[in-house]
Amino acid sequence: MLFNQQFLFTPGPTPIPERVKLAMNEPMIAHRSKAFSHLLEDVSKRLMPIFGAKDPVLLVAGTGTSALEAAACNIVEDGDHVVVIVTGAFGDRFANICQAFGASVHRLNIEWGKACEPDQLENYLKSLDVPIKAVFATYCETSTGVLNPIKDLGTITKLHTDALFIVDGVSCIGAVPVDMEDWQIDILVSGSQKALMLPPGLAFIALNQRAREVVKNCRTKRFYFDLNRYLTSYYEETSTPFTPAVSLIAGMREVCNLVEQEGLENVISRHQLLKSMLRSGLQELDIPLFVADDIASPTVTSIKPNENSIAPIKQGLQERFGIVIAGGQKHLKGKILRIGHMGYCTPFDILRVLTGLEMIQSSLLGRNILGKATAKAEEVWSKNV
Ligand SMILES: *Cc1c(COP(=O)(O)O)cnc(C)c1O
Repeated sequence: MLFNQQFLFTPGPTPIPERVKLAMNEPMIAHRSKAFSHLLEDVSKRLMPIFGAKDPVLLVAGTGTSALEAAACNIVEDGDHVVVIVTGAFGDRFANICQAFGASVHRLNIEWGKACEPDQLENYLKSLDVPIKAVFATYCETSTGVLNPIKDLGTITKLHTDALFIVDGVSCIGAVPVDMEDWQIDILVSGSQKALMLPPGLAFIALNQRAREVVKNCRTKRFYFDLNRYLTSYYEETSTPFTPAVSLIAGMREVCNLVEQEGLENVISRHQLLKSMLRSGLQELDIPLFVADDIASPTVTSIKPNENSIAPIKQGLQERFGIVIAGGQKHLKGKILRIGHMGYCTPFDILRVLTGLEMIQSSLLGRNILGKATAKAEEVWSKNV
């Protein structure tokens, strides 16, 4: 194997297109310059369709978690009641962040590997007799590979409460449909190193007008993540309050070019194809899927091989083929494996990971299943082209 070849199938960070790397290598520009203002405005506006937003998307230097923190600390005040839908590790993180800012957090705990059904949220909201300031949800729960039915959860939230609906879209925005107005999302956040094909370090925050009003009046102590600073700076100076992640924003402009050239609709259907190819291939390998078809994410697929095979599969992929996948988190550690397929990922990449799995499973099972998974995945692909 070539030593420097690595194939990244982790659900973040994800591979970066060559053109994006080149864009990030352009000469540095001063951030208090016309050139930067132009870049910032261009990117903030071209992100609107990707976020299904009606207003420019705010850019903050930080990882995805900083976007979650910003979404919480600009809304939640000490003692506020909030509901957090917890379908896995990232829902749990959202709840912990809200708690850190003094919220009274009502956790709607869903079994990991399942999605939150709209009627589960409905019953939960009905059972609470306190005013709810915000309902927090995770679009793609990366720790399990589940895609939550955000549109329906938004409808239920607005039907039963006056709460803001706040969504973590870190591991899927850029790969899935979303419409903040129609889906009644007030704040939608994401990060750079997942479906948006960039290195880690840039956070995205889309807020509607209603959320902006709440942010303006929020008394919670904060400084760097005070979104009022970012809004004022953007609208008054087309700038950012602090030094922005200039190179990442330059990279983001190239990502916008790529997405527009392929067409956002096509980007979304490509991810559906990647998911279908991988899932149908895996079924030929005697590797059980962890998540049911109807709630499976198009960006990350979890598998549940028997426990003795977990380490050999993960290590075998890495050592024999340079393919890197992820393990489980929290109580799913050692129980599942996760394969990321978001952003800069093609159908051929899926065949690569399936080929590796075929070879490893053939030796683990002691029978020849070479070609089985790839044939199945190619069939799925053929029907699509
Ligand atoms: C990756 C991820 C985050 C943010 O994690 P960082 O490590 O801070 O970038 C948050 N939510 C979800 C759903 C994620 O997948």
